[in-house]
Amino acid sequence: MTLSTESKPNAAVLLRRRCHGLLPLDARLEEWMENLFTQNTDTVHDWVKQFGSPLNIIETNTLSRNISELNEIARTMSVDFRVYFARKANKCLAFVDAAMNMNAGVDVASEQECLQVLQRGLPPAHMICTAAIKSKSLLELCVRQGVTVAIDNRDELYVVASVARRLEKSVPIALRLSGFEFAGSKLYSRFGFDLDSVPQLLDDLSEPKFERLNLRGLHFHLDGYCARQRIAAIDQCLPIIDLLRKRGHAVDFLDIGGGIPMSYLQHASQWEAFWEHHRDAMLGKNKKNSESLTYREHGLGLLSINGSIHGSPNVYPYFQTLVQSEWLKSILAAECENGETIAQAVNARGLQLRCEPGRSVLDGCGVTVARVEFVKSNPNGEHFIGLAMNRTQCRTSSDDFMVDPLVVPRLDETDTPRRRDQPIAGYLVGAYCTESELLTLRKLKFPFGIEVGDLVIFPNTAGYFMHFLESRSHQFPLAQNVVLNQAETTITLDAIDLVTERLTDC
Ligand SMILES: *Cc1c(COP(=O)(O)O)cnc(C)c1O
Repeated sequence: MTLSTESKPNAAVLLRRRCHGLLPLDARLEEWMENLFTQNTDTVHDWVKQFGSPLNIIETNTLSRNISELNEIARTMSVDFRVYFARKANKCLAFVDAAMNMNAGVDVASEQECLQVLQRGLPPAHMICTAAIKSKSLLELCVRQGVTVAIDNRDELYVVASVARRLEKSVPIALRLSGFEFAGSKLYSRFGFDLDSVPQLLDDLSEPKFERLNLRGLHFHLDGYCARQRIAAIDQCLPIIDLLRKRGHAVDFLDIGGGIPMSYLQHASQWEAFWEHHRDAMLGKNKKNSESLTYREHGLGLLSINGSIHGSPNVYPYFQTLVQSEWLKSILAAECENGETIAQAVNARGLQLRCEPGRSVLDGCGVTVARVEFVKSNPNGEHFIGLAMNRTQCRTSSDDFMVDPLVVPRLDETDTPRRRDQPIAGYLVGAYCTESELLTLRKLKFPFGIEVGDLVIFPNTAGYFMHFLESRSHQFPLAQNVVLNQAETTITLDAIDLVTERLTDC
């Protein structure tokens, strides 16, 4: 069968036409997003009226799909495997429920997170607490409930041991390790016990004061996304596990943390073209590519000094290859030192392999929608498009959101025809009262104009963008979070927005 040349442009193409960067960076979109913003735009407008702007819309089937893809890879390699969803990447409780339905575990990073997950009914055996700072009351909660604690340092080890003694309960723990050898040097981290300190640590652990600590696993969480670094770290953990077992510790899991990479963009070529043009524009050398792509020539991590570029992009690698389950597969299939694969080495020991993905399992699980409140131009003829949101509501540690937003026009009110259908270019700006309050540093084009009442959609914001840095400066209320129901035409407020500030102990 041949494809009709007259076939309609697909929904995603139509959706993207209304907004793109000077050099476009097309978002990867899930089908539910395309449906919502092409077929149900009236409904989306109603939701924003009802719940306010910005509005976080989340969808949990995609989380289940992402988790099952990881499970499937492990299954094909016969690896005993469990995902522990790192919920600090998004606070919505619908994701905790979805993870629980998938029989996945949850990684918690604070007392509130831990309490909420317990209250949702997740078995404590399917939880790990990796909080960077663990208060005594958090440790008491973990000990009482039997939540595994990933121990970061000696002080934590002593406190958890004393809590366990006092409560007369034993507690499952994992040791967080760091300082792995990679490519001839040590991988730096501020977290965990350095590998060199492990022999002394193991000696100390045999002291009676630690008898209620039940050492069940090793854990690491590396910065970045490099598969080869994970392979090296696993390879260096395995002999330590053998040693621990020889000394009588019933170690049964190895937890390789998060950092599974994902891609936000559809095309490698757009990502490469952006950076090439950006560098040229910063150097000002190439006439054709001399227009700056960013607000006031922001470098996005690069600096131009005496005709050369220094530094490196201070943004997430929005396009990358080898992501998600393919990345996991490359690790499981890699050879360790003795020639067997990681999968074989893990299986030979009867170990469970665990991971703690946050961002990557939330790929495709949410969008942030905001209403246009003004469009104005500055003396340079550039435009500022003011949205009813602030920049902490779609932000991570990256300098910019490097994905083109979508625009859904305001509802057609016949008595007020669109005033601004001429093409304009400019920047999205937010509600905090600083000069730097830009929602996008990249300059955007609006080929059909943009005006008050239109909606701007930031695609794929569930991982970190929605909540990691959200703040309530100027006493703006936090954004509400709504969960798309199965039929994809109705929503429910997420339970996190009903949680009162202080939770009672469970
Ligand atoms: C943040 C974090 C994760 C999740 O990392 P992602 O990059 O979102 O996958 C997992 N484990 C620990 C200990 C973390 O701090």
